[in-house]
Amino acid sequence: MYEPVLLKNVNVQDGHLLSTYEAGGGYRGLHKALKEHTPDEIIDLVKRSNLRGRGGAGFPTGMKWSFVPKRADKPKYLCCNADEGEPGTFKDRIVMERDPHQLVEGMAISAYAIGAEVAYVYIRGEYVLAIRRLEQAIAEAKAKGYLGTGILGSDFNFVVHVHCGAGAYICGEETAMLDSLEGKRAQPRLKPPFPAVAGLYASPTVINNVETLVCVPHIVARGPDWFRGIGPEKSPGPKLYCVSGQVRMPGLYELPMGIPLRELVEDHAGGPPAGRKIKAVIPGGVSAPVIPEPGLDVGMDFDSLAAAGTMLGSAGVIVVDDTTCMVKVATRIIEFFHHESCGKCTPCREGLNWVVKVLRRIEAGEGAPGDMEQLDMLCKGIFGNTFCALGDGAAMGLRASLAHFREEFVAHIEERKCPFH
Ligand code: NAD
Repeated sequence: MYEPVLLKNVNVQDGHLLSTYEAGGGYRGLHKALKEHTPDEIIDLVKRSNLRGRGGAGFPTGMKWSFVPKRADKPKYLCCNADEGEPGTFKDRIVMERDPHQLVEGMAISAYAIGAEVAYVYIRGEYVLAIRRLEQAIAEAKAKGYLGTGILGSDFNFVVHVHCGAGAYICGEETAMLDSLEGKRAQPRLKPPFPAVAGLYASPTVINNVETLVCVPHIVARGPDWFRGIGPEKSPGPKLYCVSGQVRMPGLYELPMGIPLRELVEDHAGGPPAGRKIKAVIPGGVSAPVIPEPGLDVGMDFDSLAAAGTMLGSAGVIVVDDTTCMVKVATRIIEFFHHESCGKCTPCREGLNWVVKVLRRIEAGEGAPGDMEQLDMLCKGIFGNTFCALGDGAAMGLRASLAHFREEFVAHIEERKCPFH
């Protein structure tokens, strides 16, 4: 039986308070980091743990940290990406609402490792309770000497600022987030340079997701071998899975990385409502290509899902049962991307606008011969040609829906109505 680590406190009374966190061994990792390790040793521990970024891309965290130049000519920043905008994704919100000290401790250790004295948590403005709890946790940590100057008697100084977003999905794209923090309109920057080298105010900046940062205290306290011993060797660790859609027990589940998707949705989340069958599952937020039901035996980790032609992404697992029209699913998803496109690059701005028009007419039973070919052509024109991952995610997802459920799209066009209604 798997014992939760990251969600240990979420159902505990007053789990968000410092006293509860400390009583459960909280801030032990920070003590250990500052008293027993140099910053480089912390980077090495995280590298040896094989921790990979939980925001979606799975980039090796220790390697990202090691890209930060050692020179002291510019300040270094840590940014926590808490702008959890991916539909179907709510893991970071629950951690921040119920156990915010875990994040504060993770940020303090990570900042020590990379040499940052200032950090920002860029958080969704809609996450009102999480914002309040995080601010409270920061104040408590400061009063107790876990933040501020000369932390725990060391020469490490560190402050955390909470910055609230205003509801744009694009602000979760890391370079758009940097522009937003600098007071500009959020639009992605060209990479390279990567933020680790030139990020906030052109200074070296490490940007990590909430879940990535909360793994760090556990890696320091329990050691990298413990972390690497959970799940697949190349993609290990405890993992938060958000399950939503047509299942009996939607919710947030902490399980080892790599568990079979079928086990997650059928055993843990209770499977589809009575009398229905699972038709498909989107495994990693709507940017991830859909998996038809026969493919559900795949492992929920970065490499297994990539080999299956999709991705773990934000682990926002959305279950679709056999009463649902896939044209409707695809149209709602593309409408979201179209609405959230920042408009900076033409393939994303114009391409998604065009795709929405074609999908809407197919959904309404007004599709025309040639519409399928037009959708294929548009996906090809968008994928790989946009400034950031938003357009790619939209095109990848639609391409998978067109490939796996083509007959549903064709039926809408030929029958001139939705076969599900
Ligand atoms: P990416 O692969 O471009 O980058 C991942 C991270 O690695 C970034 O921090 C980047 O700076 C760093 N990186 C990559 N190559 C580097 C290099 N050579 N040197 C230094 N640093 C390097 O991916 P991305 O565009 O940042 O993110 C895409 C992912 O975001 C998708 O997988 C999607 O699932 C996810 N996503 C998540 C949410 C959410 O709410 N959690 C929302 C939208 C998208």
